[in-house]
Amino acid sequence: MSLLPPDPPHGHPLGRIALVGAGPGAADLLTTRALNRLREADVVFHDRLVSPEVLALTPARKVDVGKAVGANLWPQPRINSVVIAAALAGLRVVRLKSGDPSVFGRACEEIEAARLAGVPVEIVPGITAASAAAAALTRPLTERGQTERLVLATATCRPGETADLAGSFRPGTTLALYMAMHRLPAVEAELLATGAPETCTVEIVQQAGTAAERILTTALRGMAAAAADMTNPAILLIRWPVPQARTGTRPTGCHVAAASPLPLL
Ligand code: SAH
Repeated sequence: MSLLPPDPPHGHPLGRIALVGAGPGAADLLTTRALNRLREADVVFHDRLVSPEVLALTPARKVDVGKAVGANLWPQPRINSVVIAAALAGLRVVRLKSGDPSVFGRACEEIEAARLAGVPVEIVPGITAASAAAAALTRPLTERGQTERLVLATATCRPGETADLAGSFRPGTTLALYMAMHRLPAVEAELLATGAPETCTVEIVQQAGTAAERILTTALRGMAAAAADMTNPAILLIRWPVPQARTGTRPTGCHVAAASPLPLL
């Protein structure tokens, strides 16, 4: 029996790997390039959060390498090695990740593994959860004169490390917080300890960009209690506006209902 990989089905000696952003779930939020890669793929290794609607767009063989909570069936090195082995066998491989692969997607490790193996690798960007949440709210992530800094942060670090949320939050910031739902009381306490006003608006969007989308708007103080029945996947948008005296500008207030009807053109 030969130990060599089977002949490449498409006539190229090496396959290639595309780290593709699946977006938040709705198929029409994929980029055209993502759709092309999915249609051309021989095999798709996907995360648990990728929606069935997106997976239905590819004729390729699909392998769920998602990490179920508490299970360790697919540790990162194992994912790296099966993805590389498929590419070395000449297959067009899509590594499909929810949202944007470059945002909390452990893409670094997979790119490095591909480079070490000499396999061509590319990133196809996707719509990250923060952008999908802004769309769900019809409220921009940044608001002129209010929040002019957008920070994408995770509340979950490697085991034994704590996220430095305090270093990310100051006046003028919209903090988009990923992977925070399991430690909301600690997040609330950490952010209040920065001196942020208790009244900072917190918007929590669960399953943004899908039919099951849910939105909760609350204040920073009390957010953990208010969100007790919200579950993952969900993202927090926490806004600490600049003090008005400093900017001299009025709130853009695009999230506030218009006081008078818009003039008819
Ligand atoms: N690469 C992804 C993030 C992966 S980390 C992206 O760019 O969106 C996983 C975290 O992303 C989840 O814990 C949650 O905080 C967030 N997330 C992913 N999909 C989401 C969705 N549809 N709605 C809200 N949050 C989501």
